[in-house]
Amino acid sequence: MEKETVVRKIDNKDIEELCHDDSIKLAADIIKSGGLVAFPTETVYGLGADAFLEEAAKKIYSAKGRPSDNPLIVHIANVDDVENIAKDIPDIFYTLAKKYWPGPMTIVLKKRDIIPYATSGGLDTVAVRLPSNDIARALIEAAGVPIAAPSANTSGRPSPTKASHVSEDMDGKIDMIIDGGTVGIGVESTIIDLTSDIPTLLRPGAVTLEMLRKICERVDVDPAIEHLLTGSEAPKAPGMKYKHYAPKADMKLVRGDESAVLRYMKDMIKDCDKPMALLTVDEHKKDLEAEAKGNSDINILSLGSIKNPDSIAHNLFDILRKCDELGVEYILSEVFDESGIGKAIMNRLKKAAGFEIIDLR
Ligand code: AMP
Ligand code: MG
Repeated sequence: MEKETVVRKIDNKDIEELCHDDSIKLAADIIKSGGLVAFPTETVYGLGADAFLEEAAKKIYSAKGRPSDNPLIVHIANVDDVENIAKDIPDIFYTLAKKYWPGPMTIVLKKRDIIPYATSGGLDTVAVRLPSNDIARALIEAAGVPIAAPSANTSGRPSPTKASHVSEDMDGKIDMIIDGGTVGIGVESTIIDLTSDIPTLLRPGAVTLEMLRKICERVDVDPAIEHLLTGSEAPKAPGMKYKHYAPKADMKLVRGDESAVLRYMKDMIKDCDKPMALLTVDEHKKDLEAEAKGNSDINILSLGSIKNPDSIAHNLFDILRKCDELGVEYILSEVFDESGIGKAIMNRLKKAAGFEIIDLR
C-alpha cells in the first residue's frame, strides 16, 4: 500500500544544532513509533528502523524486497552502546573501534537476546557500526535506540548515494527521507567478523584490508569477496550470496594492460550494434569519445580519475544507476588496482558484472 513519503532537506549544521533540528525530531519520532526513515551516512544512504522492534525490522525487508535471511547492520551513536546489544566482545573490538570509529567499519559480534532475529536475519550474531556522519549520529541519539539500517535501495539495485536515488526506489514505501546531499565515500562499510578466532573481512570498504592488518595480527578474507561461490561454499555474510548492485543491462569487465583494454573498447565501439555504456576513467575518456564520433548508441562514462581511486568509489553507484536510466543493453567497464579502496571498488564492480571478466592478459 502506498504511503506519503515526507522528504526533508538538512543543510550542514554542527551536531549540537542537529540534535535540536525539527526534521531530526520528526525522524526520531517516526523511528520510535516503529516507522521507516532513510538517512545519509558517510558511506551510502541507510533505511532505518528501531533495531529492537521486530515489526519495524520486518518493514525494512518488505520495503526493500530483501530476503529475510539477509541481516541488517545496527547503528549506534556511542561506543559504550555496543555492550547493550552484543556479548563476549573480544579485546580486539575495542582496539579497532578506538582507531576507526566513528567511521565506515561494521563489526560482527555475538548478539544479545534484545536484538530480535528479525534484525539479525535469524543469526546469533549482530553487525554493529558507529557512523561518522553527523545527521546519522544525531538521529540515533534523538531516537534513543540503536537503528537497524541496510542500504536504502530496492534489493539488488545499486546502493543510493543521493536522496534522489532513495526516492527512485522507496517513494510511497517509507515514512520519511532525510536529504543530506550526496554522501562522501559512496561504497558501503567494511564488514569485519570478530566471532571466530581469526578476524575475517566479509566486505571490503573504505577502512581497507591494509588498515585492518595494521591493527589485527591476522585478517582472513572471505572467499565471497573474490569470486562467485561454488555450491559447496557457504557465505559468511548472507548478503554476499545475493546478486547485487546489478544494473539492468548485461555487464562485463575487461582486464589487461592499458593499451590492450583501450584497443578492446575501441573495437567494441566500431562493432556497436546496440545501446551500450563504456565505463572508463577521466584519463581515457577523450580518446574513446573520439572513436565514438558522436554515435548516440554509445555512452562513454567516466568513473573518476585513475589517480584518485576515492573519486571512483564516490561515483560508482551513481554511474551504474545512470546506465539504467540511459536504457543501455550492454555495459563494459575497466578494472582497477585492488589495493586500498580499490578492493571495495572491484568487489562492487565484479558483483555488478556477475564476476564476468574478459581477460586480455
Ligand atoms: P547493507 O547494509 O544493505 O549493505 O546490508 C548489510 C550487510 O551486512 C549484508 O551484506 C549482510 O549480509 C551483512 N551483515 C549484517 N549482519 C551480519 C551478520 N550478523 N553477520 C554477517 N554479515 C552481516
Ligand atoms: Mg545493501
